[in-house]
Amino acid sequence: MAKYIFVTGGVVSSLGKGIASASVGKLLESRGLKVTLIKCDPYINVDPGTMNPYQHGEVYVTDDGAETDLDLGHYERFTSAKLTKDNNITTGKVYYSVITKERKGDYLGKTVQIIPHITDEIKNGITRIASGKNIDVVIVEIGGTVGDIEGLPFLEAIRQLKLELGREYAINIHVTLVPYIKSAGEIKTKPTQHSVGTLREIGIIPDIILCRADREISKEAKEKIALFCNVDKEAVIPTIDVKSIYEVPLNLHKEGLDNLIVRLLHLKCGDSDLSDWENNVLKRIRCPKSEVTIAVVGKYITLQDTYKSIYEALVHGAIANDTRLLIKKIDSEDIEKSSAEKYLKGVQGILVPGGFGYRGIEGKIKAIKYARENKIPFLGICLGMQTAVIEFARNVCGMNNANSTEFDEDTKYPVISLLEEQKKVKDKGATMRLGEYECRISKGTLAYEAYKKNSILERHRHRYEFNDKYGEVMKKNGMVFSGVNPESSLVEIVELKDHPWFVACQFHPEFKSKPDKAHPLFRDFIKAALK
Ligand code: GLN
Repeated sequence: MAKYIFVTGGVVSSLGKGIASASVGKLLESRGLKVTLIKCDPYINVDPGTMNPYQHGEVYVTDDGAETDLDLGHYERFTSAKLTKDNNITTGKVYYSVITKERKGDYLGKTVQIIPHITDEIKNGITRIASGKNIDVVIVEIGGTVGDIEGLPFLEAIRQLKLELGREYAINIHVTLVPYIKSAGEIKTKPTQHSVGTLREIGIIPDIILCRADREISKEAKEKIALFCNVDKEAVIPTIDVKSIYEVPLNLHKEGLDNLIVRLLHLKCGDSDLSDWENNVLKRIRCPKSEVTIAVVGKYITLQDTYKSIYEALVHGAIANDTRLLIKKIDSEDIEKSSAEKYLKGVQGILVPGGFGYRGIEGKIKAIKYARENKIPFLGICLGMQTAVIEFARNVCGMNNANSTEFDEDTKYPVISLLEEQKKVKDKGATMRLGEYECRISKGTLAYEAYKKNSILERHRHRYEFNDKYGEVMKKNGMVFSGVNPESSLVEIVELKDHPWFVACQFHPEFKSKPDKAHPLFRDFIKAALK
């Protein structure tokens, strides 16, 4: 029977609960245990697919095509767990299911209520994940902060589960903030005490408190937290700010976190072995042999979370090349207003990520023109491929005002357009081309050089496609179609003949990159940039 670790957060949001949960997963895996992770999100959207990046940050896509919270990205990067739509439970999903059952008559005669119907649905979602899969530990992260109204049903569900499963089967890790107050010259434990107090009111007593801090937490402060929060001294575990998130598992191990979990849950496993992680990831991050500057040209540049997986995949590419990565984040609207050169001169590689809507598009096209003409390594992803195609059509093939029908429905040259089947789609939720599709790669191309195989599977999230009508003329002008879907013949990867490294793909390679196993396209992109 699987055991459960429930991760909650207090005091403020953005404490890195996702990284903490992923790190716990990594630590347990390093002891030979099989883990999976679930993110519970209290919002009413069924999934984040319909949310703006300003609201939600990146939408992470799984193999099975679920549009999920970006924390699932951390889980997949830190562990080998294979995540699916079931690994992200939202309030919207829970209510959708309960209301559907109610309409079918499944609860005939009863009043349908938050307790027990909603909480049961949450509990089933959590326990279903491990059934029949030989999983030792399920790590369940509850989004939001303790005390939020929306999070209450989830907390009630884990309270019940903890009780039903029993001590050796379920524990709670509460992540809090221990701030440093400059004027007082000391760190403060009160917010942590209050947050644990709120948790206790709901009936949950934490077993471990993870204290986020920007400096060392003294022995006295730890003892104070232990005393007032009613946990063992050794269960107050500091997690101090680090330069790289990939240091977190190791630091938590040094603080004794995995030993404590193993003891509390009576897990049967070996000692932890993080040597691969140390050698293949951390040492290479700490001792780079060179430096590389990559420009990311997008329109949500001020937000840290919008291009999360892209930034991480670039880090992985840098690790694989033993180089230090400097990312220059450039707002495509700035380029639109002035010149590409002003912002891009001197960078060694240019990446244009995915996106939706017309705002900022012309700036992206200018950036791509600059990369093409100045022979700067270029990686385009999803919308980045579509804009690369538009740029090529306009500036190389002479198709004036060529565009995607997403931005100009009446364009004379719709080089990117909707498939017939997409034209019929009216609903916005989960109706894009989503998840894993095969792509066949032609030999003798940059893509083949990177992947070193002719069949790959990559994750998708888009509606628009390359319009095959323009394939011939683009080919004649020097565009290479190096990757194609074998069933639908849809274009998946394009390259340029007359360029050292120009690759753009319709799929999202960033979702499959890991710190110890950089995605081949990101690895080769950085390699080309270093040249
Ligand atoms: N807006 C484009 C489409 O829907 C690209 C999507 C993306 O970049 N993820 O096809």
